[in-house]
This record gives sequence, C-alpha cells and structure tokens, in this order.
Amino acid sequence: MFSEKLLLRLKHSSGLTVLTGAGISAESGVPTFRGKDGLWENRKVEELATINAFQKDPVQFWKFYNWRRNLLKDVKPNLGHYALVDLERIYPEFHLITQNVDGLHTTAGNKNVIELHGNIMRDKCSECGYLNTEINLELKEPPKCTKCDKLTRPDVVLFGENLNNSDLSKAQESSATCELFISIGTSSLVEPAASLPLSAKGNGAYLVEINPEDTPLTQFVDEQLKGKSSKILTQIVMILDRMR
Ligand code: NAD
Ligand code: ZN
Repeated sequence: MFSEKLLLRLKHSSGLTVLTGAGISAESGVPTFRGKDGLWENRKVEELATINAFQKDPVQFWKFYNWRRNLLKDVKPNLGHYALVDLERIYPEFHLITQNVDGLHTTAGNKNVIELHGNIMRDKCSECGYLNTEINLELKEPPKCTKCDKLTRPDVVLFGENLNNSDLSKAQESSATCELFISIGTSSLVEPAASLPLSAKGNGAYLVEINPEDTPLTQFVDEQLKGKSSKILTQIVMILDRMR
C-alpha cells in the first residue's frame, strides 16, 4: 500500500510537517464544511462565518457559533489524532499545522500545534482583544467582554480576516524546510493553507496526501493515500514503530 520511496522517507526523514483539515475530525463526528454538512438553517457556512455577519447581525452569528460549540462539547479525538501524537514522539522535528478550530489535536496530546484558524472554544473581545476560555454554552444573547463590556466573538479567523502573522510565518517556515509533508483531510481550497504543501514540494519535500477523495492538490502530490485518516495514519505509525 505504501511505496518504497515513501517507506524510505518515513524511515530517514528528521523533519515531518503535517497539515490537517476538517476531514481528520470527521471520524470524531465533527461535520466538515462540504456538501450537505456545509449548510446551517439552509444558509451557507461561508456566509455565516464572516466578519461582516458578526458586525451586521451578532445575534444570528452567535446562534450559529453556539450551535457549533455545542456540537463539539462531547467530541473526543479519534485514532487519527492519536497517531499524530505518536508521530510527534518519533520525529525530532515535527510540526503540526491545522486549519481546524476544534482543539482536538491538543486534547489528544500534540504539543507543537499551529492553530492557523484559531480555536472556537475561546472568546476574543472585538474591542480590546482579551481572550476568555470560560465560555458559556447556554447563550441567551451575544456575550460581552469581562474586561471592557464590548461584544466578544469566537477566537477564530473569520472569512474576510487575515491570519495571525506569527502563526502563518511559523507554518510557512516549517513547510519550506521539512523533508516529508503530509496533507490530511483538507479539501485544499482555503488559502493560504492550500499553498503550504506546494511550498514544501517546491523546496524538495516528499508530498503525501491522505483523503478519501481527490482534491485540487492531488495532481501535485508524490503519493496519494486514498482513504480515511484514522486507518492510514495508524498503519504508518505501526510501520514506523518497526522501522525506526
Ligand atoms: P473541508 O470541509 O473543506 O474538507 C474536508 C476534507 O476532508 C474533504 O476533502 C474530505 O474528502 C476529507 N475527508 C472526509 N472524511 C475524511 C476522513 N475520514 N479522513 C480523511 N479525510 C476525510 O475542510 P477544510 O479543508 O479543513 O476547510 C474548511 C474550513 O472550515 C477550515 O478553514 C476550518 O477552519 C473550518 N472547519 C473546521 C472544522 C473543525 O475544526 N473540525 C470543521 C469544519 C470546518
Ligand atoms: Zn474587551
């Protein structure tokens, strides 16, 4: 199932960088944004998760985010997340870049995680930037900042906003300098994350994609591992535990 080339890279690389998307959390029961899952009350997620929606209609915006938070409340990491904890143990230079906002990589036990799009289980004040982790899952109205009393929003990057510069630089650096790059469970449509695998490949990394479907990235990869992330990542860890 894995090529000789990939086995050699897995065995000898010191630097592994991984990019994950909503697909790695799908087997934990977290909906992805594609297909029928991409709708909430018949509205597109791309229209709800925007800075404009927050500013224009904070009540509706917060209804949507409170629903998403409640979906995540009892969710647990799956075997795919745990396999990435093993990979962090195995590789001396390991970087995990995620587009997910569910925090499941950290819950599973990964240490070196770059949360490119933030974390939905935290509030950030829209005025003073104060971060609050004591969130209320039974919201009656949009929450206010405990420091300055202005409206807060979830600490996620909304459509129409820029990524945190330092997170993006770290993600770009770890992509451009790794020997092996694995893209997992992302539709590879959202920039700038979608460019990270290409930058890795352009700088000499062996590029692997794990996804049950083809994506716009597939044509550029050195190796496509077509299937679910939990199964494939568990197999990779088993092989590595024998080899390294
Ligand atoms: P996406 O929803 O666009 O695509 C999900 C991808 O995962 C698809 O290509 C699909 O084929 C693949 N997939 C489905 N099941 C899989 C499995 N078991 N194993 C491996 N792959 C599987 O997700 P995206 O590319 O991450 O982009 C969506 C944006 O929405 C991101 O920016 C993210 O912040 C946000 N989002 C986050 C979460 C989360 O935190 N869990 C959930 C939904 C959306
Ligand atoms: Zn404030």
